[in-house]
Amino acid sequence: MSLDMSEASATFKHPFDSDKLHEECALFGVWGHAEAAPLTILGLHAQQHRGQEASGIVTFDGARFHSERRMGLVDSFNSEAILFHLKGAGAIGHNRYATTGDTILRNVQPLFGELATGGFAVAHNGNLTNAETIKRELVQRGSIFQSTSDTEVIIHLVATSKFGPILDRLIDALLKVEGAYSLCALTPDGLIGVRDPLGVRPLVLGRLGDAYILASETVALDIIGARFVRDIEPGELVRISAYGIESFKPFKPAPHRFCVFEYVYFARPDSVLEGRSVYAARKKIGEVLAKESPANADLVIPVPDSGNPAAIGFAQAAGLPFELGIIRNHYVGRTFIQPKQEIRDFGVKMKHNANSALVKGKRIVLVDDSIVRGTTSVKIVAMMREAGASEVHMRIASPPTTHSCFYGVDTPERSKLLAANHDLEAMRRFIGADSLAFISMDGLYQAMGEAKRFDDAPQFCDACFTGDYPTVLTDQDMGVNPRQLSLLAEKA
Ligand code: AMP
Repeated sequence: MSLDMSEASATFKHPFDSDKLHEECALFGVWGHAEAAPLTILGLHAQQHRGQEASGIVTFDGARFHSERRMGLVDSFNSEAILFHLKGAGAIGHNRYATTGDTILRNVQPLFGELATGGFAVAHNGNLTNAETIKRELVQRGSIFQSTSDTEVIIHLVATSKFGPILDRLIDALLKVEGAYSLCALTPDGLIGVRDPLGVRPLVLGRLGDAYILASETVALDIIGARFVRDIEPGELVRISAYGIESFKPFKPAPHRFCVFEYVYFARPDSVLEGRSVYAARKKIGEVLAKESPANADLVIPVPDSGNPAAIGFAQAAGLPFELGIIRNHYVGRTFIQPKQEIRDFGVKMKHNANSALVKGKRIVLVDDSIVRGTTSVKIVAMMREAGASEVHMRIASPPTTHSCFYGVDTPERSKLLAANHDLEAMRRFIGADSLAFISMDGLYQAMGEAKRFDDAPQFCDACFTGDYPTVLTDQDMGVNPRQLSLLAEKA
């Protein structure tokens, strides 16, 4: 099987701090639709919030694979030439927000390999926690890696598996990896979707006429008018082919640990994940927060857009007016997508402006979804004071972020997390608020519809708030530096 590959540009300077190790990504897959590529572009567009750095699409036309990978937003795929090139009724696509070293086009997914079984393309959302350890072993045995992405480990394990059929090879490979993965894979025989045994990252199944769709979030089904069928279950592998859909459960059952941060911040509010509306969950967090940590104030103001639903919930529960005291300029990226600290600070100002006429002389409650480094909060609180707010009470719709994520959400190393080395009062002083409160851990679980957090068997992955990592962190424990083997990484 050969790959007809057209690459838009050769290299791209990585815009992130070198301390970040993870990926936030979006997946999309189609099987059995004449317009697989345009549908994939739309599905990736609806999921652009999960990754804005690069996108890739691989299609299969019954004989050949076709691939396009481009830096930047998926809009750049909208050209007649690209659509003409991406032929076939099967496609997978990926939006990338990668954070390991510098970014090069070879890291942009889907990754593709020509295996003994034919072509194999794979797109990954999540992060493997033993990828570098496995990669070392594979390199020792002669594997030649083309990218610095942890996902390539899966391709090598599939390629070198002692099993015959592609599905057996993939299962064999996945039994060797640890960490979080939702995958979409494309083979000459069909589309494959997999979620890791803990079900950390989302993956949903939809139908559009006779075609099957896989996507990270339901918003990607909405945009193409597809019907939501169900979530792919934790530890489930589905194969969609000419024979319809088959479901396999090849892994040892594990406790379900869906990422609670998907609800707090990461997913789109109009998505429904694992039966919960993300919007409703965020609103409920605001309600619980208002009950736990009320404030004497005149107005509730969200830090837009991520604080909006929680602020609505807070205002309704507190019986206070919800007002837009900060206006967001939508023509800039998320705060994190900036190269250096000084520019990130500037980025906050580019993104938010005070509605001074509203705020002047008012006691306000500011609601945001999370504090990571504290950069946003410092700027926003100062902005509200400059605009004449008489009191600023900060309420955060998640518990303090004290630990880095190793499962695919971009977080800085622990030393840079404000809550990792400041107590509540020190954080309040740092951000300059009159009062500061975070939702409690049990409060967060209550907002998710649970009675409380069961500490001996938590219902979610909440490692960023607790340090309770649901898998072993082999690379971390072995002190393996992901960049040691990264000969392709270029100087920023
Ligand atoms: P910081 O300014 O470093 O405290 O970051 C907090 C802000 O970044 C909040 O307003 C969040 O909406 C947003 N945020 C939180 N986690 C992430 C993430 N993983 N990627 C991008 N933005 C984030």
